[in-house]
Amino acid sequence: MPKIVTELPGPKAREYLAKSEKYEPRSIGYQEPLVWEKASGCVITDVDGNEFLDWSSGVLVTNVGHSHPYHVEQIKAQAEKLLNCYDFLTTPRADLAQKLVEISPDYLDKAFLVTTGSDATEAAIRMVRRAHDGWEIIGFHGAFHGRTLGAASVGASLGVHAGYGPLVPGCIHAPFPYCYRCPLGLGDPATCGFQCLEYLDWVVSQESCGELCAVMTESYQGGAGSIIPPPGWFEQLDQWRQEKGIFFILDEVQSSFGRTGKMFCMEHWDIHPDLVTLGKGLGSGMPCSAVLGTSEVMDALPPGSMGSTFGGNPISSAAALASIEIIERENLVENSAKMGQIILDALTEMQDKYEQLGDVRGMGLVLGLEMVEDEKSKKPAKDLAAQVVHQCYLHGLACIAPIGMFGNVIRVAPPLVITEEQVNESLEIFAASLEAALAGA
Ligand code: PMP
Repeated sequence: MPKIVTELPGPKAREYLAKSEKYEPRSIGYQEPLVWEKASGCVITDVDGNEFLDWSSGVLVTNVGHSHPYHVEQIKAQAEKLLNCYDFLTTPRADLAQKLVEISPDYLDKAFLVTTGSDATEAAIRMVRRAHDGWEIIGFHGAFHGRTLGAASVGASLGVHAGYGPLVPGCIHAPFPYCYRCPLGLGDPATCGFQCLEYLDWVVSQESCGELCAVMTESYQGGAGSIIPPPGWFEQLDQWRQEKGIFFILDEVQSSFGRTGKMFCMEHWDIHPDLVTLGKGLGSGMPCSAVLGTSEVMDALPPGSMGSTFGGNPISSAAALASIEIIERENLVENSAKMGQIILDALTEMQDKYEQLGDVRGMGLVLGLEMVEDEKSKKPAKDLAAQVVHQCYLHGLACIAPIGMFGNVIRVAPPLVITEEQVNESLEIFAASLEAALAGA
């Protein structure tokens, strides 16, 4: 087990934290006070020389592991050749579009390249509005699609809305199947008959002015607390929207490229979204995002109406191509499914011992541990979750700060290259950290 970190933040980190405090806005998400200096594979080293096993992937970004040698080599090679080209075509841009279409379901036959997840959301919103006569979009409570205005409007997380004034008109919101805390007070997907989907009709009848054009959802809600819809929910949603004659946008910004044990999360279900947004793991650390879609939608866009200076730039495209190549060559999708199952089983077993582990959920290498005061009340234990994460750092394990609607969900999202030995070691550290937090260390 890595040695206990005695001083966090260390002296050098304190210097940089003070600099950040002085020169950067506080709008950036809070994480434990340390400063990353370098990282390799599944290990992060901070500026004071402390080492941490990584359960964060830098918030689900570095799917192929930190500074994977082949990734770095391809980025360097492209940087030496050609950097930016805007609308002018380059070979990596065309190659990446082709690759994305080839690895996705057959009917998705176009890929539009942009830079961030929020860009991809904005592009998808504009695309469906251009390709359909309607302009209203249904999103879900708790959804996060980015922090630009359109993305924040289709999403519905208070932290992004509050205090920022009116949202984009035409965004309607409905309950998401958060079965552990069912918003309709039901909670058993085996018997509830998906009342939350029935409720969609009610929401539409009360809020829509008859101009619906799309429904948009994450494949699992990340920021809301790794909330995974129950089996059957997605198929029923897809059928509902087909009956309504509207498009379906699936946000796979954080769930794709092997993260959930499939190349794309949508492969877990029998669904046919018209547009799929991609980001984070696509460039595996380099800024790169995309909208995968059907010609039906994308051909409706006139030339010049959608493009971006850095979208599909050669260095990001080369990085994404290298990342996909690594995922395929090193069987990282399979590794994600296998390592994820080991972690899920171990944490589920731990639930018998610790009632504070209220819910353990996950797919592949993205899991959510919902911390509660006790099993019966399910009262969110936000402070305990923060303490556990803090202890994890002191014991040498880097975790994302707790998230979720109640701030009580700890995410487990290591790079997909994590080995079984590292999985076992990180589980031991987690158990010791949980014990320490419960003991009030
Ligand atoms: N969609 C989802 C599901 C996300 O998790 C994120 C980022 N957390 C975004 C969109 C926005 O991506 P970006 O931060 O790159 O704009």
